[in-house]
Amino acid sequence: MPHAKLTDRFGRTVNYVRLSVTDRCDFRCVYCMAEDMTFLPRQQVLTLEEIARLARNFVALGTEKIRLTGGEPLVRRDILELVREVGTYGLRDFAMTTNGSQLPTMAESLRKAGLQRLNISLDSLDADKFRAITRTGNLSQVLDGIDAARDAGFRGIKLNTVVMKGRNDEEIPELIEFARQKQVDISFIEEMPLGEISEHDRGLALCTSEEVRNTIRRHHELIPATEDSGGPARYFRMPDSEVRVGFISPHSHNFCSTCNRVRVTVEGRLLLCLGNEHSVDLRRVLRGHPVTDDKLQEAIIRAMDLKPERHHFSSNGDVQILRFMNMTGG
Ligand code: SAM
Ligand code: SF4
Repeated sequence: MPHAKLTDRFGRTVNYVRLSVTDRCDFRCVYCMAEDMTFLPRQQVLTLEEIARLARNFVALGTEKIRLTGGEPLVRRDILELVREVGTYGLRDFAMTTNGSQLPTMAESLRKAGLQRLNISLDSLDADKFRAITRTGNLSQVLDGIDAARDAGFRGIKLNTVVMKGRNDEEIPELIEFARQKQVDISFIEEMPLGEISEHDRGLALCTSEEVRNTIRRHHELIPATEDSGGPARYFRMPDSEVRVGFISPHSHNFCSTCNRVRVTVEGRLLLCLGNEHSVDLRRVLRGHPVTDDKLQEAIIRAMDLKPERHHFSSNGDVQILRFMNMTGG
């Protein structure tokens, strides 16, 4: 069946959807959550069947790439069933972003269920610093998770590091050596002003991608990668390694003109842009039309007209978006 296409007012084709499967998490990373979070009541959260139905309809509308995220997707009960179901949709790319804590026991089942790629967050290789950043996380569990993911034979594994001055910026060389040793890609992310946090001043903590590149260049030459990731990350290679080093720089590099993605929160809110509040309530459509999918597809197609041209993050640390990242689906 030839696929329909989702296109917005600026001629961008949307073929990538990030689905948040939970707002809950076993970590409380300082840049992502407040220490004391209130999570959503169950009836506001989409069921796994509703998430699968959304995924199926996005695929019918031309989606080729789905990423499951959260919160921590692996703390959602029965997540493997959803992975197994979405794994049958013939996607070009099927990925998950995880904090890695559950991978020691789940990596192999996830791979067998059809998941193709994993992004694993790793902000520090020092157990105390790791604990301080994640507030509850256990580094050795995540390191075991990374090894389990490698053993399970994923098509691609990438580490994600949010760099903060005075917290983990000194560790950039170690994190690069770790990625080289494990033969996994690594992306460094500038902290984004999502959700109001009191733990640190985001303006002061911001470590720009340019600064991170300058640190790495003291140890390795960085050669711009020729292939286009199609996403916000800009990739580089080192002359003596296959490992790719990516930079996600919402403050210093505006990637909106090639944006091909939308997000759906765990409440079924379709977010047209990470840095804007424009959204459409798909849960109402899902629950109002439980049998046929035409109204749902119509709502998704119409929503494309709301996709803003660009985000306007500023670097002074001010919150522009009140949603926390665990609500947005990172
Ligand atoms: N729990 C999973 C994890 O940590 O990988 C998936 C969800 S998490 C919200 C997705 C990604 O968003 C993580 O790599 C995390 O580091 C990143 N993130 C969270 N809050 C952020 C912020 N304010 N700025 C930049 N990245 C952020
Ligand atoms: Fe949890 Fe991921 Fe947010 Fe950390 S970044 S608190 S692991 S959802």
